[in-house]
Amino acid sequence: MAERTPLIAANWKMYKTADEAASTAKELVARIRECDMVETMIAPPFTALPAVNAAIGESAVRLGGQNLHWEREGAYTGEISAGMLLAAGCRYVIIGHSERRQYFGETDETVNRKMRTAVSSGLAPVLCVGETESERDAGRTFAVLDKQINDGLAGLTAADLDDLVLAYEPVWAIGTGKTATREQAQEVHAYLRALLEKKYGNALAKRTRIQYGGSVKPDNIRGLMEMPDVDGALVGGASLNAETFSRIILFNN
Ligand code: PEP
Repeated sequence: MAERTPLIAANWKMYKTADEAASTAKELVARIRECDMVETMIAPPFTALPAVNAAIGESAVRLGGQNLHWEREGAYTGEISAGMLLAAGCRYVIIGHSERRQYFGETDETVNRKMRTAVSSGLAPVLCVGETESERDAGRTFAVLDKQINDGLAGLTAADLDDLVLAYEPVWAIGTGKTATREQAQEVHAYLRALLEKKYGNALAKRTRIQYGGSVKPDNIRGLMEMPDVDGALVGGASLNAETFSRIILFNN
């Protein structure tokens, strides 16, 4: 962990108006002011990006999008482009979240298009991967991850992936209250790092941050972060409240 600055990210999904998001972001900035061991990112709904950008101001908190379209612009009703996210102040973009795969038909192929657009635009991608409960029960976890990584990163080189962040999010742990044990998380994170090493070499594997996501809370973050290959967390429900999320960032249960 020491060689990688952990990234703790909030995914606010379809929660909060612009005013609500700005007020939570302001409170969060005040609560974590002293913390420089961890990088923090907030991915609010698109309508709240400008307000949250203003609220985080010159603080170290970064802004992220929850999704993007792979085209630069065009007749794609309801979509958002990399350029729009960058202009709104985003540094990061979440790609391939399991809710997008499950409810909005995203596939490894569309994830790959989005990955290519993110890296060529200068957005740091947070690529989400993870198995469902039935895939885990069938002993297919690693095969599922192999496909998501190989197809999701197809055509990209180590140089393209300089800013890559991976988020291991077992689908059975998202929003369910069921967290993977820290040993389960470590096993998969070590596997993902070895996969990166095989594909892109040791330097990229060593510097890529691999976040864990799935019912992360103030009382389980410290144990997860003690594992050598867990480099932060992607947090949904528990990130919506500034006090709770600040305790995750400060590893303070
Ligand atoms: C997520 O949305 O990425 C997530 C991990 O959600 P939760 O923390 O609520 O399980």
